[in-house]
Amino acid sequence: MAKQETWFTEYQTDALSLGLRIRQILLAEETPYQHLLVAETETYGRLLALDGAIQTTLQDEFVYHEMITHVPLFMLDAPKKVAVIGGGDGGSIREILKHASVEEAHLVEIDARVVEAARRFFPELSSALDDSRAHVHIENGIDWVKTARAFDVIIVDSTDPIGAAAGLFEPAFYQSIAAALKPDGILVAQSESPFLHQGLIQQMIRGMKTAFEVVRPYVAPVPTYPSGYWSFLMASHRPLTPSPRCRSEAISTRYWTPEMQSAAFVLPRFLEELVT
Ligand code: SAM
Repeated sequence: MAKQETWFTEYQTDALSLGLRIRQILLAEETPYQHLLVAETETYGRLLALDGAIQTTLQDEFVYHEMITHVPLFMLDAPKKVAVIGGGDGGSIREILKHASVEEAHLVEIDARVVEAARRFFPELSSALDDSRAHVHIENGIDWVKTARAFDVIIVDSTDPIGAAAGLFEPAFYQSIAAALKPDGILVAQSESPFLHQGLIQQMIRGMKTAFEVVRPYVAPVPTYPSGYWSFLMASHRPLTPSPRCRSEAISTRYWTPEMQSAAFVLPRFLEELVT
């Protein structure tokens, strides 16, 4: 008899998919916001998917979570107050709390079920949420940010720009973030794939430029995200130069290094042309 196989397939576009053979489905449910799946994959370990899109896997999450957090935090000598919009798995908060100066790390996640699933199935990411400096808000980030003030860094660790996340890619949201940051504060947002989402990256840059003087893209490989090559946008009113702290403060990482702090901003020509 033929061996039964189960595959998770993410349809990344209507002509492109990524398939992962899975050992076991651990959770599959409809939340008030999205379909949530937790499964054990053979290649990348445990996987969290929302509406069929991979959010994180245990084998490659370190690249994304280190690069969306340490690169902005190491631009500052002593970031104290940091917020993550989205990011309900807790991976970004885990990385932020590695910085000794951080006093408050706020997670603003719209879907309580994502945080609950992360606490149950991804302790490697979510245990940081129990730290006394971590504050979890189950709320729409678009509303939350309107009254937030005096943040050093705000990180948009969002799903793709559809449904509840669509507004997280709009100029009005970036303007609210600018008001929620200190004058020299920094915004970072995940900005999808340089191969597959070029129009979106350009649109996000235009949107951020309505609120910030400086907008700089940087990149990192994330094998389970569409095309495997991911971009981030960093925005501020200040020149974005690394703090000397990035060489003196030792934190434990697997992808980020003090050299990567600068190297991530070196863009291939096609991307440089796209963003200038
Ligand atoms: N690293 C991931 C990626 O790039 O695919 C994102 C991970 S994280 C799980 C994304 C989270 O953003 C989801 O849990 C989703 O519920 C949350 N989210 C979407 N729209 C939101 C909003 N308007 N406010 C707060 N959280 C939101």
